[in-house]
Amino acid sequence: MDIHEYQAKEILARFGVPVPRGGLAYSPEQAGYRARELGGSAWVVKAQIHSGGRGAAGGVKLCKTPDEVHAFAATLFGKQLVTKQTDANGKGVYRVWVEGASDIAQELYLGFVLDRKSERIMIVASAHGGMEIEDLADSDPNSLRRMTIDPAVGLSEFQARELAFQLGLQGGQVAQMVTTLRACYRAYRDLDAVMVEINPLVITHSGDLVALDAKMSFDTNALFRQSQIAELRDRSQEDPRESTAGDHGLSYVGLDGDIGCIINGAGLAMATMDMIKLAGGEPANFLDIGGGASPERVVRAFRTVLADGNVSVILVNIFAGINRCDWVAQGVVQAYKEVGLTIPVVVRLAGTNVEEGKAIIDSSGLPLISADTLAEAAAAAVASRPKPATHKAA
Ligand code: ADP
Ligand code: MG
Repeated sequence: MDIHEYQAKEILARFGVPVPRGGLAYSPEQAGYRARELGGSAWVVKAQIHSGGRGAAGGVKLCKTPDEVHAFAATLFGKQLVTKQTDANGKGVYRVWVEGASDIAQELYLGFVLDRKSERIMIVASAHGGMEIEDLADSDPNSLRRMTIDPAVGLSEFQARELAFQLGLQGGQVAQMVTTLRACYRAYRDLDAVMVEINPLVITHSGDLVALDAKMSFDTNALFRQSQIAELRDRSQEDPRESTAGDHGLSYVGLDGDIGCIINGAGLAMATMDMIKLAGGEPANFLDIGGGASPERVVRAFRTVLADGNVSVILVNIFAGINRCDWVAQGVVQAYKEVGLTIPVVVRLAGTNVEEGKAIIDSSGLPLISADTLAEAAAAAVASRPKPATHKAA
């Protein structure tokens, strides 16, 4: 789960990371008011969306008067901001953060991620921050410093100091860097984060370290024990198709094609996507109904997949281990009737009670297309799509 920049800054500040003073606004008037309240002579106005790359997309601006803050905020509210990291629809701006402008001497990069290879939290840092890590890895790979943290010991001072020296920091900045690194690590560990990124972490002309941007992402499987983090969820930033499915305990991933997929298990879902592509089709989405899918769950899955208007055929591919094919088949038949389906449905069942399952499908009297193998199912789904011309005319 992602959170907004201002929320990440609030959290990191609690752990000891230096951040600029700022205020949140839900309207242009409030943004102008925030600037007056903060005082000073220059402010940075920042669109709060769950995406980086806002600066390059026109979502961040330096303003010299509170009126300018008000005016720029007015252009942001309600806008769909499209960045390099969002899809073509972008993300809606409903909150704006106003903070005092820093005079930047240098921009550093600082990231904490989980390194699966070493099974440890890893720090990735560079003295040349500001741009995205992917660009940095291309343009200046040698500037990237990596360091893993022993979970039994935590991030020790000497390790943090070593990294500060590697980044070329001097004097008091070293101590500030040690504090910042240790604070980020503790926030990551204590709050079940999966990513903490400060980009840029700047050195000001007066020589101080300040986090000008912050991004945090959390392990959704741990949210049950992080209620304060769970409350920060902002549904306006999520794909509504995915969040609605999540509410019903279904994992849904939205894609761009027209073949809706109901599958159990992420591995089988990946294999099915591959087979659809191989057969010349494009998946519209895939929905993982998980183990133990009752007929009611299958009906729910159909409704969720059909909510995507691009879907012109549904492919059901179930390997029943814990599941039972006859339950899934009952669910498909029930869904067909309840939802009032008008598009073709291809069903491939394998595993527990497969014969009973197939019998239910075949004797249903419904125009369900039965397939035995994954390849057959994918080919049948592609073949049963309406022809593009007919589709447009319809
Ligand atoms: P994004 O990563 O989404 O583009 P950032 O918060 O990193 O957004 O802002 C983009 C750039 O704007 C930063 O790299 C920095 O140069 C500048 N910037 C951001 N906040 C401030 C600030 N408070 N004072 C001065 N410059 C800032
Ligand atoms: Mg940034």
